[in-house]
Amino acid sequence: MNTKKPMSLTSRVIIGMVAGILTGFAIRSLFGDNGFVDEYIVNGLFEVGGKIFVASLKMLVVPLVFVSLVCGTSSLKDLSTLGRMGGKTLAFYIATTAIAITLALTMGNLFQPGAGADLTAASSFKSTEAPSLGQVIIDMFPTNPINAMAEGNTLQVIVFAVLFGIAISAAGKPGERVAAMFSDLNDVIMKLVALLMNIAPYGVFFLMAKLFTGLGLGAILNLAEYFLVLAGTLLLHGLVTYSLMLKGLTGLNPITFLKKMEDAIMFAFSTASSAATIPVTMETAKNRMGVANRISSFTVPLGATVNMDGTAIMQGVATAFIAQAFNIDLTMTDYLMVIMTATLASIGTAGVPGVGLIMLAMVLNQVGLPLEGIALIMGVDRLLDMIRTAVNITGDCAVSIIVAKSEGALDMERFNDPQAGEKEEEIHLHEAEA
Ligand code: ASP
Repeated sequence: MNTKKPMSLTSRVIIGMVAGILTGFAIRSLFGDNGFVDEYIVNGLFEVGGKIFVASLKMLVVPLVFVSLVCGTSSLKDLSTLGRMGGKTLAFYIATTAIAITLALTMGNLFQPGAGADLTAASSFKSTEAPSLGQVIIDMFPTNPINAMAEGNTLQVIVFAVLFGIAISAAGKPGERVAAMFSDLNDVIMKLVALLMNIAPYGVFFLMAKLFTGLGLGAILNLAEYFLVLAGTLLLHGLVTYSLMLKGLTGLNPITFLKKMEDAIMFAFSTASSAATIPVTMETAKNRMGVANRISSFTVPLGATVNMDGTAIMQGVATAFIAQAFNIDLTMTDYLMVIMTATLASIGTAGVPGVGLIMLAMVLNQVGLPLEGIALIMGVDRLLDMIRTAVNITGDCAVSIIVAKSEGALDMERFNDPQAGEKEEEIHLHEAEA
């Protein structure tokens, strides 16, 4: 009899990631610009495999967000709960973003990564205006829900799902029948998520191998100070700020929290997209941490769009770096302006790779800093994007737990059980035949 315990998903994804990074470096040093390897392996196999993986994750986002949020809202007995929960969540998201960017500006001014930097940069970066708060709110309401889903506009899908869920709970018997169908659908979609997570080790391998074959480490050496200050601040926020918040506001063990974030962090790191990571973040919040569906189905997709603490940190450090590099003094008002613009710019911007740089252009514009600064830091942005995306989704989960705890919607037993949720990740197709 085979009694060997199967390897956990987390270990398999870590192996995929490390193997991918090593393969990338090996191909780079062994084959250089070899046409065949470049064409068929790196831009062939790795690219196709990685893109399919990310596409499959994204494929799940709209159905998952819609179905689980309809389930969550339709199970609410009292509408005031929804208002209270929504208000709390938004307040925490905005507060953590403001803390993040303040921390970043402080670190940027303390370590002065841009002092004496070499300024030979030309940029064709164009900035768009930061949207007004009014426009951000108007844009949340879909004129056509199908269109909102087709475009993957998460905020609009959230608004429609919440309204639909409220209507279900108000509709008596017919509402109960529809709710039961959505509850079944939700179980099926969560299985689909599990199915996808099982191919993740390969997907992550392809993504990492492709990325590290082409990653220019020279750029990182040139911008080592910027890189280190930013990466250090991201780690500080990810490890310390959230831990203090969690401990202070809920009394929960931050180590348990960080440990259970592993899977979601790895997905975020390899895809550099909090939007694509939504299925895994949701699974983590629900099955691993014990956040009730009625909370996580709302807080996680909202957070992936609205709450980007890691991105805000990048903007803070980058603004300080660019101001120093161009010898421009920023006033206190400028700093407040940076905090406001960065927070507003992050709302309604989808969590996809590299979007942080576009938002940075808005911030620089707002305080009159040259957009050429972006060209200075662009070369090292990809790796930092991966780290900040991991911070972004860690923030979403931390806030989800805090809100859930305050609403009496956190399953403590599940949170404290190190193995919780691992069963749900297993897929047994043969059982269907039995
Ligand atoms: N890639 C980030 C995210 O998806 C956004 C960014 O900072 O570029 O969360």
